[in-house]
Amino acid sequence: MIIGVLGFQGDIEEHIAATKEALKKLKIDGAVSVVKTADELGEVDALIVPGGESTVIGGLSLFNKSLSVIKERIKNGMPVLGTCAGMILLANRTYDRVVGEKKQPLLGVLNVLVERNSFGRQRESFEADLNVPLLGKQKFKGVFIRAPSVKEASQGVETLAKLDGEVVAVRQGNIVGTCFHPELSGDTRLHEYFVQMIKKH
Ligand code: GLN
Repeated sequence: MIIGVLGFQGDIEEHIAATKEALKKLKIDGAVSVVKTADELGEVDALIVPGGESTVIGGLSLFNKSLSVIKERIKNGMPVLGTCAGMILLANRTYDRVVGEKKQPLLGVLNVLVERNSFGRQRESFEADLNVPLLGKQKFKGVFIRAPSVKEASQGVETLAKLDGEVVAVRQGNIVGTCFHPELSGDTRLHEYFVQMIKKH
């Protein structure tokens, strides 16, 4: 199993570490590699799109022509995990809480409307204990950094977690998106869930 982490910008190393840890815990033989180009993307079985700045990641991916390749692969069933900015990129519509709707390159494969910077600015970043039923009874530490929230979701989009009534994690078939940063929580359960999803695929 080869899991790619989209390597333009954001917390790439943290996702690599969490994914390696998850593979180890599950005793699954796998490799994690940084991918940017269409050729590199052709080599992986699954992709993680990290958090960071969605306009930067999307812009660079459009520029090197990998955006359309990623989109095609996801449409063909490749498992993908997008966290924070990564989830914004997966969405088919976004707007910013303060500046409103802004054109930005998106993958547009996840049928949700996402509000960017939904919980405020960088200094309003926070952690919250989340109830994520599919990860078990133990709460999951959600790290929210200039985080988005899911405002609307079409049929086929399953809610995985909520915070104060806001949807903060979803799954739509082969696509998992979280508004928070599981790679910064010191808890690999979400990465383990994703690895198992890849294995089933
Ligand atoms: N606010 C960022 C964006 O809109 C996402 C922040 C993050 O990934 N931590 O892209």
